[in-house]
Amino acid sequence: MITCSKCSRRAVIFQRHANRHLCKRHFIEDFERRVKLAVKKYDMIQKGDRIAIALSGGKDSVTLAFVLNKLYGFRSDLEFFAITIDEGIAGYRPPTVEIARKVTEQLGMEHLVVSFEENFGMTLDEMVKRGDKKPCTYCGVFRKYLLNRTAREMGATKLATGHNLDDETQTILLNFLNADMERMARLVPQRVQEGLVVRIKPFRYVYEKEVVVYGFLHELPMDFDECPYSHFPVRAAVRDFLYDFENKYPGRKFSVMSSFEKLIPCLKEIYPQIDLNRCERCGEPTPRRICQACKLLEELRGVD
Ligand code: SF4
Ligand SMILES: [Zn+2]
Ligand SMILES: [Zn+2]
Repeated sequence: MITCSKCSRRAVIFQRHANRHLCKRHFIEDFERRVKLAVKKYDMIQKGDRIAIALSGGKDSVTLAFVLNKLYGFRSDLEFFAITIDEGIAGYRPPTVEIARKVTEQLGMEHLVVSFEENFGMTLDEMVKRGDKKPCTYCGVFRKYLLNRTAREMGATKLATGHNLDDETQTILLNFLNADMERMARLVPQRVQEGLVVRIKPFRYVYEKEVVVYGFLHELPMDFDECPYSHFPVRAAVRDFLYDFENKYPGRKFSVMSSFEKLIPCLKEIYPQIDLNRCERCGEPTPRRICQACKLLEELRGVD
């Protein structure tokens, strides 16, 4: 039996980055410590916050809802609720919407399901058939739009997402490889802007594998199905590279994150967050005259 490096109990995980085995208790303690560290470092949660959790029903967001509820749910000065966006992807989304319903019921957390169909008159599957853009373009734009609008209308001051260290380091490296510093600057924590709910990522210091282990240890429902539209060859190559590199040189994902954090002051200076307008059609915040969602909708509705 492999034992914990901190006590004599059976180990449940080997943390390569720290070169140690941890038992259930010590792993949970360490995982929660790093969530609290990220929350504190970025001042993600403040007194009086009403926090919307973007809950797709996948493993990351389910674990996020559970952890936030465990670590902060007892505080009477905070409120949490969950938003699930049903894009309308047959066979893939319905089971995770069900998981989201079950989890929020168990946590006693307010939960809203908001669908593309109700709001835009068509599902993502229909959009893909009608339009000429990639599925993820429609999905990304409309999901962000609905998440922000719903969170704001429900009085949220923050919007929490389940992005973990693996997701974040992949995005950072991808932006470097594409020389897209403007997009990189969008990863910098935002300042408060009218109409835009501030996003927070409490899992930025925990590995994807740790999120899964934490979820399993708490018997949370874990969905590993992949979206049928998922096709990101470049991101997959970056993910595989980071995985191999981390295997050979443990802890490098933290180094990538740390390098990015050192760049934050420069990124803020070179790419200051621009003041947003109100979309002339729908009134939602946008850097342009007409927001991306309204533009895409116009294209989709114009196609017969
Ligand atoms: S992979 Fe699927 S869920 Fe993810 S953005 Fe693309 S269409 Fe949406
Ligand atoms: Zn232990
Ligand atoms: Zn608009």
